[in-house]
Amino acid sequence: MKIIRDTNQMQNYSESHRQKGNILGLVPTMGYLHEGHLSLMRIMRPRCDKMIVSVFVNPTQFAPSEDLDRYPRDFERDRQLCQLEKVDVIFYPSADQMYPMSYYTYVNVDKMTKLLCGKYRPNHFKGVTTIVTKLFNIVKPHLAIFGEKDYQQLRVIQQMVNDLNFNIQIINGPIVREPDGLAMSSRNEYLNKEEREKAIVLYKSLQLAKKLYADGERDCLKLKRKIKKFISKIQDAKIEYVEIVDPITLQSITIMKGEVLVALAVYIGKTRLIDNITLRSHS
Ligand code: AMP
Repeated sequence: MKIIRDTNQMQNYSESHRQKGNILGLVPTMGYLHEGHLSLMRIMRPRCDKMIVSVFVNPTQFAPSEDLDRYPRDFERDRQLCQLEKVDVIFYPSADQMYPMSYYTYVNVDKMTKLLCGKYRPNHFKGVTTIVTKLFNIVKPHLAIFGEKDYQQLRVIQQMVNDLNFNIQIINGPIVREPDGLAMSSRNEYLNKEEREKAIVLYKSLQLAKKLYADGERDCLKLKRKIKKFISKIQDAKIEYVEIVDPITLQSITIMKGEVLVALAVYIGKTRLIDNITLRSHS
């Protein structure tokens, strides 16, 4: 397994393998790998000849008030986990490599980046689409995979790939959860023991939504009210948003029919957690 830190070296590696006819698969991550990340590697591995995992905590997707400095990092552990997943290359650039002093270019997807998390993290998706574009140009993958855990991010990237004619197939990976249902996230690391227990409320509230939908509830306002009431019972849980949206446009809906996405962001203490579930009328 190679570790490449230099952008030119990464481009040269990818170009030479493309010329040999190899299929390149990219798994972008911010490191501190967990089973969620590993599941994406396991989906990608049989689909490509060379699997590249990027490990980069992208400063442009964090607001100044957010957790860039304390975001968990452990490259040695990440390296070992990648090795076990038969990764061919870890692309591990420095922030200076990706954003040198004279850096002025950003990629922005309109509309859907202003909804859900975008309402509360106004420049977040601009940072995401910029770094993903840079990774696409540096790693030159044929395939790239993103987790449904960050559903809005997945949709924004699919939209960008369509709008900007990237010749890259985007694959989505299902949410991987802890045994009690909490969606795996590097940020779960911030939770203390009591908070960790309280954090199950996100998953439980989505299960409640699923049950209410299966029982025939179709009124989004009523459903949202019930979810919020359920979450509010937990001390130290502060709701940022609970939304029911069209899974493609991410626009809010009022009456549920067919497939809908229930998405939420909740603070448990100081830690902001997100989760979502897709509901289908027959599920
Ligand atoms: P991150 O390192 O948090 O930026 O995540 C890197 C990739 O892993 C993104 O595509 C995430 O959506 C995905 N991911 C993170 N957590 C999970 C999870 N619990 N299940 C599936 N994919 C995940």
